Amino acid sequence: DPNSYGGLLWCLGLFDRPFTPPKLIVGTVRPRSIQAHAERLDLVQYAAHVSRPVHPDDPEVAIVGGGISGLAAARALSDHNIRVTVFDRGRTPGGRASTRVTGRQSFDHGAQYFTARDERFQRYVSSWVKDGIAARWQARVGVAKHGAIEGKESAVARLVGVPGMNAIARHLAADIHVESGVKVTRPRRVGSRWQLVDDRQTELGEFDIVIVATPPQQAAALIADRSTLAEVLTRVRMRPCWAVMVGFEQPLLIDYDALFVHDSPVGWAARNSSKPQRPDGESWVLHATPEWSDHRRDSTAEEVSKPLLKAFLEATGVDAGSVASIDAHRWLYSQAAEPLDVGCLWDAGNSIGICGDWCSGSRIEGAFLSGMAMAGRVLSHRLSRHGL
Ligand SMILES: Cc1cc2nc3c(=O)[nH]c(=O)nc-3n(C[C@H](O)[C@H](O)[C@H](O)COP(=O)(O)OP(=O)(O)OC[C@H]3O[C@@H](n4cnc5c(N)ncnc54)[C@H](O)[C@@H]3O)c2cc1C
Repeated sequence: DPNSYGGLLWCLGLFDRPFTPPKLIVGTVRPRSIQAHAERLDLVQYAAHVSRPVHPDDPEVAIVGGGISGLAAARALSDHNIRVTVFDRGRTPGGRASTRVTGRQSFDHGAQYFTARDERFQRYVSSWVKDGIAARWQARVGVAKHGAIEGKESAVARLVGVPGMNAIARHLAADIHVESGVKVTRPRRVGSRWQLVDDRQTELGEFDIVIVATPPQQAAALIADRSTLAEVLTRVRMRPCWAVMVGFEQPLLIDYDALFVHDSPVGWAARNSSKPQRPDGESWVLHATPEWSDHRRDSTAEEVSKPLLKAFLEATGVDAGSVASIDAHRWLYSQAAEPLDVGCLWDAGNSIGICGDWCSGSRIEGAFLSGMAMAGRVLSHRLSRHGL
């Protein structure tokens, strides 16, 4: 009976905590059927009561961008009982921490792995590992240059989502109202609220607060002339990155799973199939250097795939054997050249917030912490509205 004090303690796991000094208590256990419990409680009314907003005038929040930062903000706000809707233009949320499935192979073509240096992030990561959302990637790391590979000592604990990098976004998005495949355009003022509209002019609803959780160039397109924060966005340059996803018929004769590649158009190569819980087979992700990618911003996937594969084989000195599949993806905004160190940005006058990895380190960890910082700003704004 969750209405009883004992029931509440039970729900919170406190019912049978040890009392000191221990004391024998003699009592009567009164049996009551579930049916009898149900009759004592109006479940519909009870559900409405416990799920009512804590403050009836709590803000309704729209988050544009369902990458790690937007989802971390959504998760924290939703856990504080604030109504949140996430809009993402992608087919599924995840943004740059996503996984592409091609035939029998899967490829983490954006973020390769993540590290957890900040204690707050470490706490979440530990729970993800415990729940089977993330796992350690015991990669053998090397450096490839001019056809030779050398091992590289690496004390970094590398973690990945399982069975793909996109597991992290999926986990954060659980129970959150996410609308995928929706490209949001510039918000319109309607009284004191913001009305969101997509690129097909479909109205998406009115919100009290808009959080933009995208790379700065995409954020600028949304909030230019809507907020004083627009100027800050022009200061952050994001580097492009071409990613090639290759499936091989046979394992490559390389004793390493992750390679830093020098003096080559390829800067990084990873044996995706060596990550935990990936499909069998031999799959690799090759990332071109920012400079090489920058010169080929307007190229097609076909134009970059083969030259990058060739460069990888030259740098490692291995024979490709037969290639089962090859494709490429261009990340226009892969990582910030010089990320800010601001956590997030908040324009209280216009009720617009901005977060993203580029506000805090340009990695998954930074994206997560930026989203958390954003949620913190919204929550403290709520408290100040209530005069607390
Ligand atoms: C090639 C590459 C390699 C990387 N390697 C690593 C790594 O090894 N380790 C690491 O920690 N990090 C790595 N990163 C960085 C990491 O992926 C990012 O830091 C993190 O995923 C960013 O999350 P975010 O939420 O800030 O942004 P994003 O993931 O970019 O999310 C923004 C979201 O906004 C959506 N969006 C944009 N505009 C609109 C709109 N108008 N309407 C609706 N939705 C919109 C996009 O679809 C996207 O889903 C890498 C990134 C890339 C690209």
